[in-house]
Amino acid sequence: MARPVRFNIKEKEIEAPDGLMGDGFMATSFDQVIGLARKNSLWPLPFATSCCGIEFMATMGSHYDLSRFGAERLGFSPRQCDLLMVMGTIAKKMAPIVKQVYLQMAEPRWVMAVGACACSGGIFDTYSVLQGIDQIVPVDVYVPGCPPRPEAILDGFMRIQDLVGQESLRRRNGDRYKELLNGYGIQ
Ligand code: SF4
Repeated sequence: MARPVRFNIKEKEIEAPDGLMGDGFMATSFDQVIGLARKNSLWPLPFATSCCGIEFMATMGSHYDLSRFGAERLGFSPRQCDLLMVMGTIAKKMAPIVKQVYLQMAEPRWVMAVGACACSGGIFDTYSVLQGIDQIVPVDVYVPGCPPRPEAILDGFMRIQDLVGQESLRRRNGDRYKELLNGYGIQ
């Protein structure tokens, strides 16, 4: 009789990936196993420039505690991170820096735009503010709000986890992905 297999990561129980299960064995695909490992061990790089960054600090605090999702290891070196979280107003002068940080991250990498400013420029419809970071780098998940509450940031993080867990290992070598990066002038 097959029994459901569960993995326990701290308090959070996660479902086993799809596959064949029986007493003492489980067979699944390489994609699923890698996806499971990746989604529960993301290393975020918080690029916080203004008020939304304060909400992120609350998200890291003990009450909301992003570490429950396996992401307590924040990094400030792009080369060691796989999730860029842009939180705050990005002035046009700052845009090349955001892009440089993105370029220094190794594949696979994901991007979250947190808050109205990062998503669209927010209330700052002015000559000096970038009207959304997707003008310079591809964005995977947008978190709305001015500012978004920590619950919204956690929800956005879980949407990233869904993407990471389901992504094929071959996606990054695909023509579609290369075309997407080419659209941003990234080789
Ligand atoms: S979206 Fe609102 S809270 Fe967030 S950085 Fe912009 S102005 Fe501040």
